[in-house]
Amino acid sequence: MTERLYQADAYLKTFESTVQVLTEEGVILERTAFFPTGGGVQGDEGTLAAGGESWRVVETVERDDHIVHRLDRPGPPAGTALAGTLDWERRYRLMRHHTATHVLCGVMFNDWGVKVTGNQLTPEKGRVDFSFEAFDRAVLEEGFRRANALIAQDLPVRISFISAAEAAGRPELFKLESGFRHHLEQLRLVEIVGFDVQADGGCHVASLKEIGALALTKSENKGKANRRVYFVLD
Ligand SMILES: [Zn+2]
Repeated sequence: MTERLYQADAYLKTFESTVQVLTEEGVILERTAFFPTGGGVQGDEGTLAAGGESWRVVETVERDDHIVHRLDRPGPPAGTALAGTLDWERRYRLMRHHTATHVLCGVMFNDWGVKVTGNQLTPEKGRVDFSFEAFDRAVLEEGFRRANALIAQDLPVRISFISAAEAAGRPELFKLESGFRHHLEQLRLVEIVGFDVQADGGCHVASLKEIGALALTKSENKGKANRRVYFVLD
């Protein structure tokens, strides 16, 4: 199982590691700060460097409990010590979009009982699918206003771990599913202090002010009770 450095420290931009396996798809490292695509969030890009050579990580994906770094050319062999560097600007935008999604989804659920059914986050924009029994544009706009008011309060975001048994009786922990692995014995929790807590394996900012401000760009019908909502960050 790859050690996931980003789960303890989402702000880690460089790290040292060793190639565990070179597969046809890419390299598996003993530990990595690269987040793999999952839960509707794009995986990381960046570089790996060893012995004066460097490889571009074009995509990071999850295979069983391993993280595979897809490279621009055949990678170094097992046992190679290397240094990894994230494309930090890209990752930080993903962290801001991801945390913004928690705030917006928390507001929509807490205040109107509107559930999220899916999300797709890129460095450029966020997309969330909401299950709206009777869609009301004014409610959605008010949701964005309340989300921005929370962001302006600059609440801290904290990471903690609990056992799967402790989480079993708490369905509110599973409103969003981003990079979350249900089979693990230890669950990782992401808490926006005083507002919301979720079981979540992804990368988030440490305080809400880092998000900036959320702007609704578009909403469209995707079936009877499903509204697809797009946002950007100012
Ligand atoms: Zn999350």
